[in-house]
Amino acid sequence: MKKMIEESGTLAVFDRMKKLRAMGKDIINLCVGEPDISPSQDIETAAIQAIQSHHIRYTPSEGIPELRKTIAHMIQDEGWRADENRNLIITAGAKPALFTTLLALVKKTNEVLVPVPFYPSYAPMIRYAGAKPVYVPGNPQNGYKISPQDLKPYLTPHSRFFILNSPVNPTGSVYSPDELQELLKFLDKNHIICILDDVYRHFIYDEAVKEEIARILKPFQRSIILIRSLSKEFAMTGWRIGYAVAEESLITPMKTVQGHIIGNAQTASQLAALKALQNPEKYALSLHVFKSRRNDVLEALRQVDHISIIPPAGAFYVFADIRSIHPEKSDVIVCSELMEKYGVAVTPGSAFGLKGFIRISYADGNRLYEGLDRLVRGLASR
Ligand code: PLP
Repeated sequence: MKKMIEESGTLAVFDRMKKLRAMGKDIINLCVGEPDISPSQDIETAAIQAIQSHHIRYTPSEGIPELRKTIAHMIQDEGWRADENRNLIITAGAKPALFTTLLALVKKTNEVLVPVPFYPSYAPMIRYAGAKPVYVPGNPQNGYKISPQDLKPYLTPHSRFFILNSPVNPTGSVYSPDELQELLKFLDKNHIICILDDVYRHFIYDEAVKEEIARILKPFQRSIILIRSLSKEFAMTGWRIGYAVAEESLITPMKTVQGHIIGNAQTASQLAALKALQNPEKYALSLHVFKSRRNDVLEALRQVDHISIIPPAGAFYVFADIRSIHPEKSDVIVCSELMEKYGVAVTPGSAFGLKGFIRISYADGNRLYEGLDRLVRGLASR
């Protein structure tokens, strides 16, 4: 029998926005987590050259050796042991890396711990892989991050994996080095593997924290599956390139699964990714732009009475509690009204497992300020 898999709540908003736009409505996008900035021309040229020189055939399932080698060096610079032939696999973005991880490694009896709020694809992927997602409510006093104390009541003999995403989509919260260390220690002690969804790694606005985190992760390498992609950091969302790094015993079954699903990540995109990763300082997006957008969003939202904001230290989202503004209305209805009546698309917290919130994305700066005006007006008119 065919398994059912639910639609992502974020994509549902995106689809509605596209439909209304196709009908001629003017809707400003504050919903999608996709930077509006184009990747450097050098990256595009690398892909064009790859195609023109006929690098268009299958590659090894785990990715082209040059790209694996470059990533292995990067990871070694962060203090990890990494052998390009044993510890890593190139994937078609972070989503396939997560799905491949789960399909390859979880067993039917396993429970996968997922902090709430969460990235909407986690639970469907876990279920589809045959395991059980166990939701762990985040601590509202601490930006909805979780600590070992929050996790403890949810542990069972079946707890096997934990998905950690920091900076967090949707809150923009960042686990501090101390919080991360405590959590990883606790997971290690309980023989739980941490699937670290690191797609927003670049978007930590405090550089010192960013550096310290790399140092904290190092001793826990054995129990981490590190998942990254070039989607956000290099604005290469549609290019579909990511990677997973872990112990050989974990990577080997992932290679097999990937071989059966996609075969390999798109060939020309791998060569473009090679260009990007050979000089990340040059090609990664400027953080200044995003930091200043974040500050502008916070400034605009100060005009809204009774709104409560989780202070965002990373990613490109602001997560706002609107329960005191609209105690009678669901977040889904509020978002739908904001889109239909005020022409601004934001995502309801329900999509991330937390009702009564909205997620505002400032990844797209094109009409951000006009979008914020509409949002502020829409929220203010109850
Ligand atoms: N993980 C999180 C937390 C995300 O927010 C996203 C995209 O929005 C992904 C994974 C998927 O990334 P990719 O586009 O590389 O598949």
